[in-house]
Amino acid sequence: MRIKADFSDTVEQQAIPKDVYHAIIQKVETNLDDQGNVIFREGKTKNPMMTLTCQIDEGEYANTSPPTKIGNINVMLGGTTQKGAPMPLFMLANLVESTRCKASCGSCSADLTGKLMYRGTGKDGYEAGHYYCPECKAKAIFEFDSDDLLGLPCRIAVDVEKAQGSDRDRNTVKKFLREDAADASA
Ligand SMILES: [Zn+2]
Repeated sequence: MRIKADFSDTVEQQAIPKDVYHAIIQKVETNLDDQGNVIFREGKTKNPMMTLTCQIDEGEYANTSPPTKIGNINVMLGGTTQKGAPMPLFMLANLVESTRCKASCGSCSADLTGKLMYRGTGKDGYEAGHYYCPECKAKAIFEFDSDDLLGLPCRIAVDVEKAQGSDRDRNTVKKFLREDAADASA
């Protein structure tokens, strides 16, 4: 059979160098249904998570054609690790604090928009390294709407790795950074 394939919509995006970039959250998907239950898909995680796409909006990779986007940024929302331990939510904490997104406390209902979680020191009556609500000091439960993340600016630590089964470099994001956080070493 004679095949005529049109490549005009096939874009092989070049990886950008490892660095910290300003970006805008452009797409947010979750694996949850309307009730907040994980939609089971063969071979996919049973843990709740969001998958984000960010578009670089500052520096030489902003305003490029096509736009420079970093996709497949997975942010866990809960569940358990492969060893059955509660899933640590560091990346979500990074994201909430990087975007200062609209949020409220699941314990006291205080408006936590733009606020940072309180970190226990171990010397203040709170467990070292644990996150607490800055208002009621209960262990932090942030409630937010994933749609509210759309369009928000953030800082992302972009890394470069080989795409699976390929020699091609691709970008990954493992960390969001606060505006006031020191650079790189993510
Ligand atoms: Zn609270």
